[in-house]
Amino acid sequence: RAKQQGDTYSFFTHRLDRDARQSFEMEQDLRTAVEKKEFSMYLQPRVDMVDHTLLGMEGLIRWCHPQKGICSPAEFIPCAERNGLIVTMDAWMMETGCTQVAIWNKERQALAGKPPLRLALNVSAWHFRDNRLPDRVMEILKKTGCEPGWLELEVTETAIMKNLSGAVAALDRLRAMGISIALDDFGTGYSSLNYLRNMPVDTLKIDRSFIAALGPEDDKSRFLLATIVEIGTRFDIHVVAEGVEEEWQRAYLESIGCPSAQGYLWSPPVPVPEFPHLKDTLPPP
Ligand code: C2E
Ligand code: CA
Ligand code: CA
Ligand code: CA
Repeated sequence: RAKQQGDTYSFFTHRLDRDARQSFEMEQDLRTAVEKKEFSMYLQPRVDMVDHTLLGMEGLIRWCHPQKGICSPAEFIPCAERNGLIVTMDAWMMETGCTQVAIWNKERQALAGKPPLRLALNVSAWHFRDNRLPDRVMEILKKTGCEPGWLELEVTETAIMKNLSGAVAALDRLRAMGISIALDDFGTGYSSLNYLRNMPVDTLKIDRSFIAALGPEDDKSRFLLATIVEIGTRFDIHVVAEGVEEEWQRAYLESIGCPSAQGYLWSPPVPVPEFPHLKDTLPPP
């Protein structure tokens, strides 16, 4: 029995060792990646639900690992969130994204006055630990020639709740500058409804899990989605559905008045050179 316990113990310490080593290696790799800028920006279109007008895009980070190839954020964001490297990564995305959208919008304007695209970028909770985010964003806008109206920052409710008054002050300042704020993964936090009253947001992004749960005969999911869209409408907040993959999901979302969406139905996130930035509409293939 004692031996068995000993074995179990050494098994666990061995596993802990291995996990710790792996996470240490990942952290070292990430630091190098940040120094060497081994990142890439992918873009996913946001479209009008009804007429498929291209409204803008969400920037999503990818890590181009020298050995492992393109790495998805699900694998490295948790690590970058633990040690704060995410702050530098987000700043890189902001500079890269703002530079790109400024070029594209000037091109769109010059070509028959196409309306500007809006770039949405994810912002980690780390940015709300201090109050420097609005100044940093302002600096990047000036440097890149991106207009504030072309930028939307996506924050999660959890990020806001970690430092409510600080985050709300920062979001107020960003909005006063003309930047829009989106509440990401809406519906997955704890207190969405109560806090929505005072939350300085322009857009709600309905989490993809709500769309994934939508079955043809699933009245509860349908009612839940319709209610979220109705809340957005009543609060005068723009609503975006995430993760729309099927035409019948789109049709249902259209029927309940959800105005815009992102999802594989139109396009997965693509590298910058593949993004259709001069298109007016993006009908599903
Ligand atoms: P998110 O902000 O909720 O982004 C949406 C995720 O859903 C993206 O995953 C996107 O590729 C995926 N997606 C889009 N359409 C569909 C669809 O139709 N079906 C399915 N199944 N998935 C779809 P991705 O790119 O792997 O990013 C994962 C998460 O990593 C993001 O979730 C976001 O929280 C975080 N993230 C990505 N880039 C950044 C960044 O630059 N900064 C920060 N702080 N977080 C980021
Ligand atoms: Ca997002
Ligand atoms: Ca989301
Ligand atoms: Ca999500």
